[in-house]
Amino acid sequence: MEYTEAPDVKRVMEEIVEGLGFSHVEPRLIHCYRSRGSKSRRIIARIHGLGKIWQEALGLPPTYVIEVISERYDKLSEGEKEKTVIHELLHIPKGFSGGFRPHKGYIDQRRIEKLHKALLERRTLRTT
Ligand SMILES: [Zn+2]
Repeated sequence: MEYTEAPDVKRVMEEIVEGLGFSHVEPRLIHCYRSRGSKSRRIIARIHGLGKIWQEALGLPPTYVIEVISERYDKLSEGEKEKTVIHELLHIPKGFSGGFRPHKGYIDQRRIEKLHKALLERRTLRTT
């Protein structure tokens, strides 16, 4: 695996956090990376969190990394890229603890589509 920083993903993430009012999310504590050479066939992106024991041991605040799998993410349309980042951000719990919120009962296509629509509407309002 090879990792490179992904400022493009970071920009998308920042716009989503601001645009959708994810006030519990601290964009400066979310790093965005692109990976190449993943063996996984279907994953487009994933989120990594610095768990509590690591925060304690390293003296660091809760921190996340959003990793996009270059081979798949880069081929997506802008809209699908945004939905992918929304999905990953939904895994961050309200307390921004470094832990995760599971899919069950919370992260599904319907919620993602709804949030994405709100993002697009907000963008239209800003440009007209
Ligand atoms: Zn997920």
